[in-house]
Amino acid sequence: MNIVKTIAEVREQVKAWKKEGLSVGLVPTMGYLHEGHQSLIERAVKENDRVVVSDFVNPTQFAPNEDLESYPRDLERDAALCEKAGADLIFHPEPEEMYAKDACTFVDMRALTKNLCGKTRPIHFSGVCTVVSKLFLIVNPDRAYFGEKDAQQLAVIRRMVRDLNFDIEIVGCPIIREEDGLAKSSRNTYLTKELREAAPVLHKALEEGKQMVLEGERSAEKVRETIKKRIEAEPLAKIDYVEIVDFETIEPIETIKGSVLAAVAVYFGKTRLIDNFILTDI
Ligand code: AMP
Repeated sequence: MNIVKTIAEVREQVKAWKKEGLSVGLVPTMGYLHEGHQSLIERAVKENDRVVVSDFVNPTQFAPNEDLESYPRDLERDAALCEKAGADLIFHPEPEEMYAKDACTFVDMRALTKNLCGKTRPIHFSGVCTVVSKLFLIVNPDRAYFGEKDAQQLAVIRRMVRDLNFDIEIVGCPIIREEDGLAKSSRNTYLTKELREAAPVLHKALEEGKQMVLEGERSAEKVRETIKKRIEAEPLAKIDYVEIVDFETIEPIETIKGSVLAAVAVYFGKTRLIDNFILTDI
């Protein structure tokens, strides 16, 4: 497995693979990899001849008050995990390699990005769409892998690929969790012992809501209230949002039907955690 820092090296390698007729999968990440990322890489390895993992803490998706500086980084550990999972190439650029000092072209989405995380993080999805577009243009993959953990991001990327005619298959992968149900996240490392013990309430609350739907409840408000109350009962949890939306449009719904996303964002101390469940064909 190779680790490269320049766009030119990635292009050269992928060109050589494509010349041999090999298919290429891309797994975009911000590094500090865990079993969630690993599951995406392993799926990509299964479905493609070669796999590129990008490992880049993308500055354009962080607002000035967010955790860009403190976001955990450990390339050596990431490389070991990628190697074990069967990846062929890690693309680990410096910010200057990805963005010219006077870069002024961004990919902006006019719907899907206003609700949920877009409300609290207004520039976030423009940064995500821009960096993912750039990665698509640099790597030119046949398939790209994204976790359902970031469900709004997955919906946004699918829409972007449709709207901009990227010839890339987007593969959504299930959420990988700790034993107590907490969704794995690089940000879990910020949690003190006390906050870490409180955080699984997100999954418990979502499971309760999901169960209601599976038992026939179709009022989004009733399910939302149940999830919200369960989280509010945990004194260390400060809710950012609890929403139930259409998974394709990310617009709030009254009646649960079709493809539905129930998503939460909750602060534990200064750490903002997200989690969700998706139900299709309801
Ligand atoms: P990140 O490094 O946090 O930007 O995540 C990179 C990719 O890994 C995104 O597509 C995430 O949705 C996915 N991912 C992160 N955590 C998990 C998880 N616990 N389970 C599944 N996928 C995940």
